[in-house]
Amino acid sequence: MDVKKKDIRALTKEQLRAFFVEKGDKAFRGNQVYEWLWQKAAYSFDDMTNISLETRQMLEANFVINHIKVDQMQRSGDGTIKNAVRLHDDLVVESVLIPTANRTTACVSSQVGCSLDCRFCATARLKRMRNLNPDEIYDQVVAIDNESRLYYNRPLSNIVFMGMGEPLMNYNNVLKAIDKITSPEGLGMSPKRIVVSTSGVPKMIKKLADDKVKFKLAVSLHSAIDEVRTSIMPFNATFPLKDLREALEYWYAKTKNRITYEYVVWQGINDDKKHVDALVDFCRFAPSKVNLIEYNPIDDGEFQQADSEAIDMYVKVLEANNITVTVRRSRGKDIDAACGQLANKT
Ligand code: SAH
Repeated sequence: MDVKKKDIRALTKEQLRAFFVEKGDKAFRGNQVYEWLWQKAAYSFDDMTNISLETRQMLEANFVINHIKVDQMQRSGDGTIKNAVRLHDDLVVESVLIPTANRTTACVSSQVGCSLDCRFCATARLKRMRNLNPDEIYDQVVAIDNESRLYYNRPLSNIVFMGMGEPLMNYNNVLKAIDKITSPEGLGMSPKRIVVSTSGVPKMIKKLADDKVKFKLAVSLHSAIDEVRTSIMPFNATFPLKDLREALEYWYAKTKNRITYEYVVWQGINDDKKHVDALVDFCRFAPSKVNLIEYNPIDDGEFQQADSEAIDMYVKVLEANNITVTVRRSRGKDIDAACGQLANKT
């Protein structure tokens, strides 16, 4: 492969139109090729059947279409599918298809590895190698949509950015990918069916609000007490709860969009009443919802899921304070496809 060739999907539609005009062709040719690249997700110029052979050869001489390759697909007993996704430079990320009775959710990665250091997460053990490009995020969604149609006879319905990486530390590319995913010129999905999950980068949460995004926001909180949160998510020392809270207040004031808090209850870490009270308090400043997620062990024994009494106490206290709470069972655990397990075995 000629490394000097440019990835054609790094071009905007306008740039592609201008390229064809420069080559003495019609700007409209740019629209046709753009449609092949995004809406039809073509991975080869040869697939572009309404483009002349001569033009396809000219494109081939100037560009590459960098694309992902699903290297390995594992299917769990509960129907969850995990894809090991190979990138053009041979790095690998993972994405997951989660089928339930009435929806199919794609859990996608935004970075190779992660720069954060959450102590309970397998991805944190890989250092951040690079950000994913918009097309690499888009391709994961397309691959899962195809698998959903093939194995479950229905299109993908939801997307969560809860795979590898911290989406708000790859802000521009994640937003560009979501643009393509929601655009009628891409997959035409509703932004209301997309959740971006962050460990809480205050400046970037404010930027989301300023950029008037339409997707939903989830925050991996895990503790509303600074010392505890810092001990399990060390970057909390840099972005303490006070700053997170201020950014979320700003988010809510601008978007009027409810916030979801992701929360795992661990034995001896955040399983007694004072932790629930702190959470209740943290939930008060903006309409919010709490997802209690099951802990997925990552083989070191340091963290253990709290017992069901502790979970029941959380549910009871949150509900008594009129805070919506759901208890989420993990999916795909048997193939290490559950939250925080990505990269466990690769
Ligand atoms: N960096 C983003 C998205 C990736 S993590 C974020 O932090 O939100 C997706 C979710 O899985 C987060 O809520 C994270 O806290 C949670 N998680 C990480 N490791 C986990 C584990 N071992 N068991 C259960 N959930 C985990």
